[in-house]
Amino acid sequence: MQSNASKVVVLGTGGTIAGTSADASDNVGYTAAQLGVNLLVRAVPPLADVPLEAEQVAQVDSKDMSHEVWRALALRCAHHLARPDVAGIVITHGTDTLEETAWFLQRVLAPAKPLVLTAAMRPATALQSDGPQNLLDAVCVARAPGARGVVAVLGGQVHGARDVRKVHPYRIDAFSSGDAGPIGCIEEGELRLFRDWPQGDALGVATLPADEAPWPRVEIVMSHAGADGAIVRALCASGVQGLVVAATGNGTLHHALEAALLEAQASGVRVLRSTRCRNGRVLSAADEALPSSDDLTPVKARVELLLQLLTDA
Ligand code: ASP
Repeated sequence: MQSNASKVVVLGTGGTIAGTSADASDNVGYTAAQLGVNLLVRAVPPLADVPLEAEQVAQVDSKDMSHEVWRALALRCAHHLARPDVAGIVITHGTDTLEETAWFLQRVLAPAKPLVLTAAMRPATALQSDGPQNLLDAVCVARAPGARGVVAVLGGQVHGARDVRKVHPYRIDAFSSGDAGPIGCIEEGELRLFRDWPQGDALGVATLPADEAPWPRVEIVMSHAGADGAIVRALCASGVQGLVVAATGNGTLHHALEAALLEAQASGVRVLRSTRCRNGRVLSAADEALPSSDDLTPVKARVELLLQLLTDA
């Protein structure tokens, strides 16, 4: 059956892509989340020929991303994805927590249409801003035949939600898919695909807490030289429900921290072991006492644990 879907919905959430600075040569001392999404779209002349709608869902520096914004975003995405006239969605986002939002949306929605996050490392007022090209590339991916799942488009590359991570604090080329490599790239407005789109089962927006209802408390702790169990015990005493540990190497833990995590697990707190290494994954053993998060980074393992706790509630 021929699809009539041609429209792209651009959802604005803030970030540096919507940031401004009084000084065009200042690439770091700007204020994020200042310009509305309609303005961002209008700043890209070729988008005038694309059937497109823009909607502001939030206006935040993504370092301050909240569960409430995630919920609102997931609901708006679910709404627009269900429309037969919509080919795909683009979300303008900050770079700081883009990878967390990407994994959250992939697990909740696992869309059969493309849901493309994009961002910028330099504000809209910079001499050489990367936002307009990234937005144009993101719209190209959102309209690409056969595209599906949650991806991030930055610096001419398409990264899958599971693999994408920010690896540099200020360079334009700041994102990587680690060992997996990008899914594809955009060459002069054409998508070149290297491997499959993200797939999976959607948990569904009904999994998310109702408006204003609290989300489970899941924290990240790190194993390091001189670590002990004090933070874990303090978190347990304050009612934490899930703990991700950013372990050393292949999921190894300082013995004092491990003892506290085992106590926490025995008392009913969910624990997930991730690695603080930039690439690779934790190769788990059959007899491991604390489950591992495979290739999910600590921040994505936190999203995973959050959703596990919501699903089991
Ligand atoms: N702090 C900004 C944000 O994440 C950084 C950026 O977008 O590059 O919103």
